[in-house]
Amino acid sequence: MQFSAINGLEETKNSLIEAVKKGHVAHTQLFLGTEGSAHLAMAIAFATYLNCDDPGDIDSCGKCPSCVKNQKYIHPDVHYIFPVSSTDKIKGKEVVSNNFMKEWRQFLEGGVYGDVTDWSLIFGGENKHLNISKEESRGIIQKLSLKAFEGKYKIMIIWMPEYMHPSAANGLLKVLEEPSEATIFLLVASDAERILGTIMSRTQLVVIRAFNDQEINHQLVSEGVPVNKAAHLARLASGNLRLAHRLASEIENDHAPSVKEWMRQCYATDLSDLVRWSDEFHKMTKISQKGFLRYGLSLLRDTLLDHYGDPSLIRLPEGEKDFIKKFAQVVTPDKIEPLTRLFSEALFHLERNASAKMVFLDLSLTVSRQLKQKEFAVKN
Ligand SMILES: [Zn+2]
Repeated sequence: MQFSAINGLEETKNSLIEAVKKGHVAHTQLFLGTEGSAHLAMAIAFATYLNCDDPGDIDSCGKCPSCVKNQKYIHPDVHYIFPVSSTDKIKGKEVVSNNFMKEWRQFLEGGVYGDVTDWSLIFGGENKHLNISKEESRGIIQKLSLKAFEGKYKIMIIWMPEYMHPSAANGLLKVLEEPSEATIFLLVASDAERILGTIMSRTQLVVIRAFNDQEINHQLVSEGVPVNKAAHLARLASGNLRLAHRLASEIENDHAPSVKEWMRQCYATDLSDLVRWSDEFHKMTKISQKGFLRYGLSLLRDTLLDHYGDPSLIRLPEGEKDFIKKFAQVVTPDKIEPLTRLFSEALFHLERNASAKMVFLDLSLTVSRQLKQKEFAVKN
């Protein structure tokens, strides 16, 4: 991710770049921004700039091997630490960021403006048990003991230090204060009050202001949202790009009727219908294909919120609420996590230019199986 992928906030980009030019890069920085702001995006763009082989006046080059790896979130010297929890497959001491990198990349590919709920839906964890553990801090120290493989800097991006266990924080105090040479910590947080004082006092604060309406508007238009809708959504979202994305995929999504119809067909499991759907899907533009899948994801998220009795659903139009109520009868909470993962994987494969037809047919068949699973179990 480069600075150019973030709309606006030029003043922040400039001051970060100035610091690099002057050789005054603080080794521990806290990027603080509200939900739906560019705090994580900015940290990743900054990490990309820091390790770029040919950095320009306003951005990284985007072409050197380092930039290309950062674009795919696979640079060996840029490490990501984030809250995780145990899952069906990963338990105990294995519950550390390193073992969730595939899901983390999917999360980032889906847009870097998601919150912890979006994240836990992707990796299948339980929101309430999210944590950056002591085990994690040991791993960080171990990674720091290695020399940078190919980058100028070794960079640790710690997303949501609010979730850091005190024992993990204690383990990190020394390295945050005096990191080894050419090591940079970029902490990315939303709620300063929830960060341990001992951590706060060791960081240089970089405040990332919320987007303004115009910046959100531009971002949405660049993602294919029609101009008139984008302006309307930007006003509703009041600076929160995550909310703007959610509104765009829920309320204003032209795919809504077809996604719902397709879900019904998946439930009915008529193979010839599902093949016909994947032909239709194949004919859509890539932006439409992604819009279709993103709407599916937000439907799943709302269904989960409905199971939890979350009041934020009240905001949805009547027709939408009715559908979610009915959908929730078939899609029980235990099915939401695997289904979410399937949708995220499909998005991930589309991004990497897999055949849209195959991706969609595969998704249809697996979704169909998931929706039917309980019924099948009961019958037997
Ligand atoms: Zn570069």
